[in-house]
Amino acid sequence: MAARIAMKNPIAEIDGDEMTRVLWALVKEKLILPYVDLKTEYYDVGLTNRDATGDAVTTESAHAISRLGVGVKCATITANNARKTEYNLKTLYPSPNATIRTILDGTVFRKPIVVSCITPSISTWKKPIVIARHAYGDLYKSAEMPIPGPGKVELVYTAADGSEKRTLVADIKGSGVVLGMHNLDESIKSFARSCFLYAINEKLPIWFSAKDTILKIYDGRFKELFDQIYETEFKDKCAAAGISYFYTLIDDAVARVVKGEGGFLWACKNYDGDVMSDMVASASGSLAMMTSVLVSPKGPVEYEAAHGTVQQHYYRWQKGEKTSTNPVALIFAWTGALAKRAELDNTPDLGNFAKKLEHAAMAAIEAGEMTADLARLAVPAPAKALDSWEYIDAVASRL
Ligand code: NAP
Ligand code: MG
Repeated sequence: MAARIAMKNPIAEIDGDEMTRVLWALVKEKLILPYVDLKTEYYDVGLTNRDATGDAVTTESAHAISRLGVGVKCATITANNARKTEYNLKTLYPSPNATIRTILDGTVFRKPIVVSCITPSISTWKKPIVIARHAYGDLYKSAEMPIPGPGKVELVYTAADGSEKRTLVADIKGSGVVLGMHNLDESIKSFARSCFLYAINEKLPIWFSAKDTILKIYDGRFKELFDQIYETEFKDKCAAAGISYFYTLIDDAVARVVKGEGGFLWACKNYDGDVMSDMVASASGSLAMMTSVLVSPKGPVEYEAAHGTVQQHYYRWQKGEKTSTNPVALIFAWTGALAKRAELDNTPDLGNFAKKLEHAAMAAIEAGEMTADLARLAVPAPAKALDSWEYIDAVASRL
């Protein structure tokens, strides 16, 4: 066998739970270790080890991504009361993804993996649409109040020196409801920086949408800060990467998205991103074909699958069944991380390997070798669906 590809620097490897943990080891064993002399710093963020370390391992793994610049993460259980009983946990730990995102101050980008035998519901889409969702504030950190009867509703800002500023929301005649929400300049700027870094890395044009015709101050601030970060920090870099940036109203963006052919990054405010990422995911095909990348505005990047731990498949696997769980998004998490490592370390062999592995994973599907979730959608339909082990062998045989 040929010599394995060397790595200069390690990546942070973050292991997880249930069926994705099973597939994680399998993908490494069959598709990566035979070809790459893999260097990782391993963190076991599986629920059992989170409990054993009082969740310290999650924080350590996030710092490792910061330090090493690249991380790859398996799906992890977000603990709830049912999991507390199932795993006999000392306490309910916060979502590892939220902990890591907070430490990296990062933005999540979701990108569908496009294969020729699965047609998106929107027939004009030829290339993936990547959604970036600003994950701070707006509706998700708001205060609301029922208004029982007539009265004045005002916004009041009390400065540190005690001085006040007020503005009338509404002079309510009957009964109704009221909402107050906020965002922070620093968070919006971090979001913009992460979006430009991702778009330059992926060579994708970037669209940012909001509703500044109506919310002249609120959405106006988003637009102003996005424009400012572009002009002062990224204009030359975007030009060098050959990508454009443009701002448009959210309703215009939606109209263009359903008529366009894809192939761009769509930067969305929090609520728009929540809704539009589900729309793009569902119109693109399968959740198991969606990757997720966390980009810190300071540069570090973490790659993972967008789906969860596929709990029900895991229980069936524990009973001895070879499940037909789709490992494609997990494979792409690894290839994304290896390609990023290759770019940072200037090791083209590793980058080429990542590309070849992605091609092999897609070529197998396009030749009719795929798991059950895809077999249901593919045209032409394959004669049979493969289990995860058979599919991974089909990929390995093409490498
Ligand atoms: P899920 O694991 O994404 O699975 C939901 C359903 O989607 C599955 O039952 C399966 O449908 C289908 N599916 C997802 N991934 C698939 C794959 N790779 N291959 C084939 N089918 C796939 O979501 P969940 O059941 O809501 O959550 C399970 C656990 O994952 C929870 O503990 C949750 O906290 C965690 N979670 C973690 C992350 C993360 O770490 N990024 C994200 C989301 C959820 P069928 O049953 O119809 O086959
Ligand atoms: Mg949603």
